[in-house]
Amino acid sequence: MIDLHVHTTASDGRCTPHQLVERASHAGVRVIAVTDHDTIASIAEVRAAAETRGIDVVAGIEITAVEAGRDIHMLGYFLNPDDADLAAFLAGQRAQRIARLEAVGVRLAELGMPIDIAPLLAQAQQQGGRSVGRPQIARAMIAAGYVADAREAFEQWLATERPAFVPRPGAPPGDVIDIVHAAGGLASLAHPGQTNVDARIAAYADAGLDAIEVYHPDHDRSDVDRYRDVAQRLKLLVTGGSDFHGDPDHGGEPGAVALPMDDWIRLRDAAAHA
Ligand code: AMP
Ligand code: ZN
Ligand code: FE
Ligand code: FE
Repeated sequence: MIDLHVHTTASDGRCTPHQLVERASHAGVRVIAVTDHDTIASIAEVRAAAETRGIDVVAGIEITAVEAGRDIHMLGYFLNPDDADLAAFLAGQRAQRIARLEAVGVRLAELGMPIDIAPLLAQAQQQGGRSVGRPQIARAMIAAGYVADAREAFEQWLATERPAFVPRPGAPPGDVIDIVHAAGGLASLAHPGQTNVDARIAAYADAGLDAIEVYHPDHDRSDVDRYRDVAQRLKLLVTGGSDFHGDPDHGGEPGAVALPMDDWIRLRDAAAHA
């Protein structure tokens, strides 16, 4: 099984790289791409754990681009983890995440829901470049008893245009595609069915997009069929994965959504010739 979309504790996942590899191995995953938000901090640990289990690891990422005030998640695969420009760009993304976390903290306090963001800041300042995001804020809100679950935290407070939403600055998708390419990687548009950007996919393809994520837990059968057609029409490769976060209500188990072997082979061959 091939799962090209999973998160670890380097971003908003609940599992350490070691725990992730254990879970993936038991589920029968043989190729995995760890795609943490705006960080590749877990890649060395994932590789070390995967090696002992005979799992192939693709160095991946999920970068938040911004277009017209909306977040566009862009996946990158087969990255050179030592690329200095990529490292500098990601450090900037994480600094913006910290500034946003602080602003959301202020907003929540104004709304009568103070949370202690110090542990989150400490996590973000740890060596190796971990990233913070709204799911960790949601967990702090649950722990404080303000909301019952992450869904409520997002829908009532944290999601776009909700009272505790703070917009983020960010690079447009075309710039992110260029950064991924410069680091030796291929760029895939994450979960287009969730992001709701069908009308923009052709423009991204013109900007050099390599692939779209057809297989994702948020995509139903008709989404999969539609995005397969889009990929074929625009001559894009196909990616897919579980978006595993280690949360029962956020993404699937490793391998629960997988990439078919023939799509994987096409992607891998394209990376080898890039
Ligand atoms: P951020 O990185 O701060 O932009 O937060 C984005 C993360 O929040 C992504 O991993 C999403 O999957 C997650 N997310 C977005 N909406 C929801 C929701 N309604 N419930 C739980 N998680 C969500
Ligand atoms: Zn996430
Ligand atoms: Fe995403
Ligand atoms: Fe994700």
